[in-house]
Amino acid sequence: MIAEKDNVVSIVYELRSGSKDGDIVESLTPDNPLTFLYGTGGLLPKFEENLNGLSAGDSFEFLLNSEDAYGPVVETAVVHVPKTVFEVEGKIDETLMQVGNTVPMMDAEGRRLNGKVIAIEGGAVEMDFNHPMAGSDLHFSGKVTEIRNATEEELTHKHVHGNGSHDCGSCDDNKGHSCSCG
Ligand SMILES: [Zn+2]
Repeated sequence: MIAEKDNVVSIVYELRSGSKDGDIVESLTPDNPLTFLYGTGGLLPKFEENLNGLSAGDSFEFLLNSEDAYGPVVETAVVHVPKTVFEVEGKIDETLMQVGNTVPMMDAEGRRLNGKVIAIEGGAVEMDFNHPMAGSDLHFSGKVTEIRNATEEELTHKHVHGNGSHDCGSCDDNKGHSCSCG
């Protein structure tokens, strides 16, 4: 069985920033692999492309250019928001509103995104909504640990079930159905 559309693929990897000699950003161990349903668009397309056709036990090593990963750093993603954004029940949350903090927020369309507090000036807070890996090439090296057939239910839901690999709550929210994964 190989990594291809509609198979469930488990991998472990080490992600380094910039090159194979870069700083380690993320390191997955066999107890905590990344398990995903291949070909459903949940991961970066180029990332999946580099795993295409591999079998369990195969190693991989590749570099994703920033354009194929999280894109360039965009100046317009740095914005000033009013301090009131940090209000919880009418009071500004001072522990949240700290330079260097990454704060989960929602945009006008209700999408979740993380913003990093860069500066606090007067009534405004300067925040950077660039992805933390924007502008970086990503170097992955790792191994395929398992490949299996997806269940009918997984194919319907377009995500993997079991092993705590996904948040069951999100099934209810996004798809209007509950799922039986545990
Ligand atoms: Zn589900």
